[in-house]
Amino acid sequence: MFEGLSGRLGDIFDRLRKRGALSEADVGAALREVRVALLEADVALPVVKDFIDKARERAVGHEVLRSVTPGQQVIKIVHDCLIEMLGGTPGEMPDINAPTPINLIAVPPVPVLMVGLQGSGKTTTTGKLALRLKDRDNRKVLMASLDTRRPAAQEQLKILGEQIGVTTLPIVPGQEPLAIARRALERGRLEGFDVVLLDTAGRLAIDEELMAEVVAIRDATKPTETLLVADAMTGQDAVNVARTFHERVGVTGIVLTRVDGDSRGGAALSMRAVTGQPIKLIGTGEKMDALELFHPDRIANRILG
Ligand code: GDP
Repeated sequence: MFEGLSGRLGDIFDRLRKRGALSEADVGAALREVRVALLEADVALPVVKDFIDKARERAVGHEVLRSVTPGQQVIKIVHDCLIEMLGGTPGEMPDINAPTPINLIAVPPVPVLMVGLQGSGKTTTTGKLALRLKDRDNRKVLMASLDTRRPAAQEQLKILGEQIGVTTLPIVPGQEPLAIARRALERGRLEGFDVVLLDTAGRLAIDEELMAEVVAIRDATKPTETLLVADAMTGQDAVNVARTFHERVGVTGIVLTRVDGDSRGGAALSMRAVTGQPIKLIGTGEKMDALELFHPDRIANRILG
């Protein structure tokens, strides 16, 4: 991931490091190159503009240009701007033992809604998240597929559940999504589950029917989290899907999947700035343990090498 951007920024920084004194024009030229690198990585245009404006404002100050190592200072400014663009705070140390950043503060069973387009990796991610909550956070998890449109969807989740040792709601043929959701919560209550993951149906594209269905399920279940699952490989389309879902449904976080196959990184880089919502988790492979916490500073370090 980020191979292109990483290489480009590496070259720009190498040249900055070799310079002694820097003029305002030198900084301007370097930031113009950073701008091109970000655009080539498919970062959304308004996000790039804000980034460069912020970096320029910080870099042209006298303290930077008159310092002993102006190149290093500019590099640090770009690094910090990158962390901020990804939703982080520069200088904050990530806690590797932190619990999964999913809000589970409610009377159990806590409903968590998984939403997104068909093929985004929603069902796979539901399984991955269930496994993580079970193994790392010690929660008793129930999964239910509310996808009554795709014939094999409920079956797919059931098979995943068997693989990872997580209970799935028994399938009742012909039941509507809302009724399944209510049954899942009822069973969760009766059997002492901590969390109920509700895997909603997707569509190939956003349509009114899908939005109405998700809103109805959200209103009936009152989830603590509505997690939008989006495919990083689809770049700015993923960002637009997330923005629309957030406007219509109110998303509380994003899970970006297929980050392992995404060499440009545009969705990862612009998602937070465009939608205002945090990327909470990233999918890094097809296996059930390929789900990682999203740490802005670690991603920034990965990009800047
Ligand atoms: P859904 O229609 O949104 O429920 O999508 P699925 O969960 O069925 O996933 C579609 C395909 O994407 C499957 O082949 C998954 O194995 C694959 N997939 C999901 N997440 C990831 C990921 O993070 N990395 C990779 N490489 N493949 C993934």
